[in-house]
Amino acid sequence: MSRRKKMYEGKAKVIYEGPEPGTLIAHFKDDATAFNNEKHDVLEGKGVLNNRISEYLMQQLGDIGVPTHFIKRLNMREQLIREVEIIPLEIVCRNIAAGSICKRLGIKEGERLSRPIVEYFYKDDDLGDPLVAEEHIAAFNWAGPQELEDMVSMTLRVNDFLSGLFAAVNIRLVDFKLEFGRRYEGEMVRTILADEISPDSCRLWDITSGKKLDKDRFRQNMGNVTDAYAEVARRLGVMKDQPRLKVITNGDDE
Ligand code: UDP
Repeated sequence: MSRRKKMYEGKAKVIYEGPEPGTLIAHFKDDATAFNNEKHDVLEGKGVLNNRISEYLMQQLGDIGVPTHFIKRLNMREQLIREVEIIPLEIVCRNIAAGSICKRLGIKEGERLSRPIVEYFYKDDDLGDPLVAEEHIAAFNWAGPQELEDMVSMTLRVNDFLSGLFAAVNIRLVDFKLEFGRRYEGEMVRTILADEISPDSCRLWDITSGKKLDKDRFRQNMGNVTDAYAEVARRLGVMKDQPRLKVITNGDDE
């Protein structure tokens, strides 16, 4: 696929020029990074799993009327997407305390939040994606008031829908991160869901055992990372006959 023009290379995906104007191709890599690139590994098969899981979740969200950049999956690692101008914010929604909110506020991991909490992080690797307030978003014009309102309402809708979807397969949606983009359609600009939704960008815990089925297995050197992703795919009914995946590590995973 290297014949196509590369538009952008991120940590987990490469974006190529699409077959038609206004389209792009997202190629899901096996690379895993954490702690702002300090930890890096290649997890064989992760890209294939995330391509499938994200396809499924984006399609389901499209079906309930959430506009997304997803058009169709092209092959094991690639999907055709709509070109957008990425809004430089990560919108995080939390149902249960985990990760950065625990460190920041001294809350115990696993504490159920009395209501979903939406947080904004400014997308800037050099700054380590800092938490920002609406005031910063408005003052620095990272997103307009209507865009922000649209992103928050879509995020809460995604949370409701995906919480139910995952609960049906005995998985708790602990938290997740979304990214949105601007889609220019003639005179109109629409805010649509972009990037991916996968175990790289969500925390997913088995409801019965509490077992982590997400990227925290990689962050915390718990091992069996792709096995956990394959378990999520299997429960969602995608990749039914996924072969057992070999995990290549830098030695600190099991
Ligand atoms: N997240 C992500 N990309 C990031 C930061 C966070 O996908 O650059 C996801 C993460 O997997 C989790 C949620 O957003 O599902 C909340 O992450 P948190 O703020 O707790 O940060 P972390 O502990 O991952 O540094």
